[in-house]
Amino acid sequence: MPFTQFKLNPSLVTAVKELGFVRPTAVQAEAIPPAVEGRDVMACAQTGSGKTAAFLLPIINRLIDRPRRTTKALVLAPTRELAAQILDDFNALALHTPVTGAAVYGGVAMGPQEHAFRSGVDIIIATPGRLIDHMRSGYASLKHIEHLVLDEADRMLDMGFLPEIRRILAQLPTRRQTLFFSATMPAPIAVLAREMLRNPVSIQTQRQSAPASGITQAVYPVPMELKASLIVHLLSQKTMTQALIFTRTKHRANRLADHLVTAGIRAERIHGNRSQPQRTAALAGFKNGTYPVLVATDIAARGIDVDELGHVVNFDVPQAPEDYIHRVGRTGRAEATGDAFTFVSPEEENDLRDIERAIGRRLPRVTVPDFDYTARPKARLEIPIAQRIAEIRARKREERARAEINAARRSAAARRPGHPPRETRGPGSDRPSRPGGPPRRPAGRGRGPRG
Ligand code: AMP
Repeated sequence: MPFTQFKLNPSLVTAVKELGFVRPTAVQAEAIPPAVEGRDVMACAQTGSGKTAAFLLPIINRLIDRPRRTTKALVLAPTRELAAQILDDFNALALHTPVTGAAVYGGVAMGPQEHAFRSGVDIIIATPGRLIDHMRSGYASLKHIEHLVLDEADRMLDMGFLPEIRRILAQLPTRRQTLFFSATMPAPIAVLAREMLRNPVSIQTQRQSAPASGITQAVYPVPMELKASLIVHLLSQKTMTQALIFTRTKHRANRLADHLVTAGIRAERIHGNRSQPQRTAALAGFKNGTYPVLVATDIAARGIDVDELGHVVNFDVPQAPEDYIHRVGRTGRAEATGDAFTFVSPEEENDLRDIERAIGRRLPRVTVPDFDYTARPKARLEIPIAQRIAEIRARKREERARAEINAARRSAAARRPGHPPRETRGPGSDRPSRPGGPPRRPAGRGRGPRG
């Protein structure tokens, strides 16, 4: 079925053609017709399914001929990156229409976002927290919203946004169209969907708990301490031209990115401790090929959409099966093919088994033939926490011992004949003595162990 079969404005069909979309994806084929008619839609769709165009096209279509300067559509997304990505998609799809849009998310100045509200852009794409910040100031009125989209609803609930979502819903007109997208549909999501939707069309284009089709998934068993060497080995073989690598923590993302750069691989990092400009620059550099490798933690990577992203590497096994499905959804975009590799150390086998149960199959194990699995690690990414605590304790013991020796030396010197008594001014001191106060350190001595 071509895009021309939908009742879409010709300017949208042109944009779709310019983007190179030849035929609709499954979720687009099912969601666009009822959404164009104004019906509510509840779709189980993950990243890579083409869900963004599935909700944007019908909304832009309905707004084309409406008066401007009043915000009539609101898209809620869990992360800044996803909101920015949706805005990019919107700009491409609405290119030949008068419909305007803006993204509203944290980490950047409020001013331009306030201007977007005040000027009444047609569509606001927002993360819940920042939207509420604007709502507090009065100018962000949602009373004319006619179309609401919840994108990645499951992720929003995972991130604890339910109270914010409820506060936002309370400000919206009840007569509206709601399009509800979620990769998974656990009970709390189904409850929220029931509350928000009126007589929705339900769409389930793929099995709820399987990654997008076309993805080649494999597991690389490897000792934890050799993971860094293995990734350098695989990247140096040039079989991976572009890779998004997930680590469990921000600390590991930093250490791994540093390690790759030291090994001569152009890599950037993206995680919650980085400022918004840093994240934006890292993502832009990854997209334009300046950095063929991007190391990321889960949350920050939501919404990363890179054309023809060939490889996703789970450097650490995700702890929740849904995270695995979401991460792997970064590759195999819109039914293309891609590879998803997961490094598994013996201590992560249990988490891997949970993932295999969730996706309903055992993933193939791969051994890299020319990699030395017995080698001593060249670098350690992380010092185990117990060892770090032991090191801190040892350092403190050393500091205390040094302080005691210094104190003993000082009191021995004070007892030597000719040394000024403790309560008088020492030579060279420009401060008055403090009769009755605590003893001063003799002048000319070091500043103690921390120096
Ligand atoms: P998402 O909307 O996050 O699931 O992303 C889907 C990706 O596939 C984006 O890169 C879109 O530009 C692309 N895409 C969406 N719809 C189509 C289509 N019908 N044909 C080809 N690519 C598409």
